[in-house]
Amino acid sequence: MSALSIPIQSLARSACICCGSARWKEYFRVLRKCRDCGFIRADIDLTHEQVRKLYQEDYFQGEEYGDYLADAVSHGKNFAARLAVVRRLMGRNVGPLFEVGCAYGFWLQQCSLAGIQCAGVDVCVEPVRHARMVMGQNAQVGDFLSLSLSRGQYRAFCLWDTIEHLSQPEQFVGKVYDLLPPGGWLFLTTGDIGSAFASWRGPRWRMIHPPTHLQYFSTETMRRFLNRQGFQVMRCQSTPMYRNIGETLERVAKLGKGISRPIAQTLKQLVPSGAKELGFWLDLGDIMFVAARKTK
Ligand SMILES: [Zn+2]
Repeated sequence: MSALSIPIQSLARSACICCGSARWKEYFRVLRKCRDCGFIRADIDLTHEQVRKLYQEDYFQGEEYGDYLADAVSHGKNFAARLAVVRRLMGRNVGPLFEVGCAYGFWLQQCSLAGIQCAGVDVCVEPVRHARMVMGQNAQVGDFLSLSLSRGQYRAFCLWDTIEHLSQPEQFVGKVYDLLPPGGWLFLTTGDIGSAFASWRGPRWRMIHPPTHLQYFSTETMRRFLNRQGFQVMRCQSTPMYRNIGETLERVAKLGKGISRPIAQTLKQLVPSGAKELGFWLDLGDIMFVAARKTK
């Protein structure tokens, strides 16, 4: 990210997206915390050009994920588990469904295999090419805010690990609300900075990395935010994630903070390659799964 010169903004007059107040105090480094509701965001504003540069191909191949594509087994297991929850909540009629931030198309593939009509968008060119050409999914490159979709065309919108990356999450969620029919659903996952694990890690929590992560919700500020947008929150709780041992070590060795990084670098050398293919389910309590509904 060092190649980019990111302007640090002054949030001083910006209204908090969760409570509307404009009283911010310094938190960790570029992070600011709302004095009234506790919502945390980075004091950074990205231009469209900066967003495009941030999410070029290397973003998914080493910059933030070790090698996203090589970890297909984990993505498959995570999305299968998530689809089971979505099905339980939505009942028989899941879909048509739209994904904002569809990346390589693993979620769309999961839905398509289950017979759910779906489409997605992403700002990254290469992942979308993969989603279309390799996965055969209905994905397109673009900015969700400039897409023209018809109201009522989709019964559900998904933003998996996406909202934390957005400069204006209120515009995205507002657009989702406008497009949904009454009874429609919004599903998302993001880090929970209010979790015990994140509190314990403090500034070293692995999810803190501006400028890719700009918004830092807790379950409380997430509820406030969605209610303010008109949604009724049906579920907001931590979710386990399936992780591959090799990929996890790769990631921590690269991005780990404090003692975790040298430990991962050492383990990377010691763990036999066969064992790196194995995986495990882990719930650190700091990733939240959110289901919200447009009730009116
Ligand atoms: Zn606030």
